[in-house]
Amino acid sequence: MGIRVVARIRPQQPHELEKDVIVSTASNATLVKIPNPKNESEDFTFQFSSVYDHTATQQQIFDNEVSPTIKHLFNGFDVTVFAYGSTGTGKTHTMRGGKTLAERGVIPRLLSGIYRRARKIVKDSEGETTVEITLSYYEIYNDKVFDLFEAPEKRTLAGLPLRDNGCKTVVVGLTERRCESLKEFENLYDQANINRSTSATKLNAASSRSHAILGIRLTVTTGDEVRTSIASAIDLAGSEDNRRTQNGKERMVESASINKSLFTLAKCVEAISQKDARIPYRESKMTRILSLGQNNGLTVMILNLAPVRSFHLDTLSSLNFANRTKRIEVREIENEPVFKQCPRGAPTISGPNIRRQPLR
Ligand code: ADP
Ligand code: MG
Repeated sequence: MGIRVVARIRPQQPHELEKDVIVSTASNATLVKIPNPKNESEDFTFQFSSVYDHTATQQQIFDNEVSPTIKHLFNGFDVTVFAYGSTGTGKTHTMRGGKTLAERGVIPRLLSGIYRRARKIVKDSEGETTVEITLSYYEIYNDKVFDLFEAPEKRTLAGLPLRDNGCKTVVVGLTERRCESLKEFENLYDQANINRSTSATKLNAASSRSHAILGIRLTVTTGDEVRTSIASAIDLAGSEDNRRTQNGKERMVESASINKSLFTLAKCVEAISQKDARIPYRESKMTRILSLGQNNGLTVMILNLAPVRSFHLDTLSSLNFANRTKRIEVREIENEPVFKQCPRGAPTISGPNIRRQPLR
């Protein structure tokens, strides 16, 4: 099990002033510095596996943090990539990104990398090995699960039920679509994201108040050997503390459920890093479905940060969230070097301790 927590500080926006930039990364590029809100002459410093500043490109984030996980996915390991941060810090930009090739986010690049590797494996095996890729895409809003591959009018208010199926939790009735190419993926994904905003509007909710989870299931078959694994890419709900700005009843219900699921996520990541026997994944729907800590997988948490003062307290709370996991991550790396710590720009995953997951 490997957990890697990295920070990405987005560029300031046109309406944000240079003098309001308060978050910086120090010279060795693994530190984030932010003033103490109670005493601005003092800085707090947080350390990460890597820190990306406003100059980092989509390609760099993908190449350094996500691309190395693809070969593990093909070896039967699960991969989970989270974007965590308050609304407006760049989670969707990091995960989905923009329309141009350069602006494409982690998700389309991941799919592109998976298809490329699948084609190579099939070709090299002269057709003996086949690779099947299926997708699911759902959101969790107020601790209810909604299928984003279904038209919004088919939604029921209760959401989809969960069922424990032996050692795994499944979402009953969730659409799984076979997807043969990147082009097909792009069409499915665009349509699903339209579904997402349509239903959010209907529910009078912002899509930033739900977690969007894309599941990419890979089935690699050679003769009678079948290996499956799943990559999950998650654009989390905004982590901001809504009690500061909103006090409507609906917003309070949303905030309570977001806080609970993010808190559970933090506890799970911490427990996994510490190799605790008990991982509290059952305490929220998202962690149950992802079976965090159940699979011998790799997790990458991208902490998105805005550089400016208007985000000060939320930035600090994000950094503290990540700090729970980061401290322990160092120990994790020493014990079981799933991720080699490399100088920025060339991180790789090393493999001496990686065992093949038993066939499932
Ligand atoms: P979130 O999903 O966390 O609410 P967004 O991804 O929507 O945040 O980002 C907020 C705004 O900042 C958007 O206009 C987005 O295009 C811009 N943005 C975020 N990160 C970057 C980046 N690394 N480079 C350029 N623009 C960015
Ligand atoms: Mg967003």
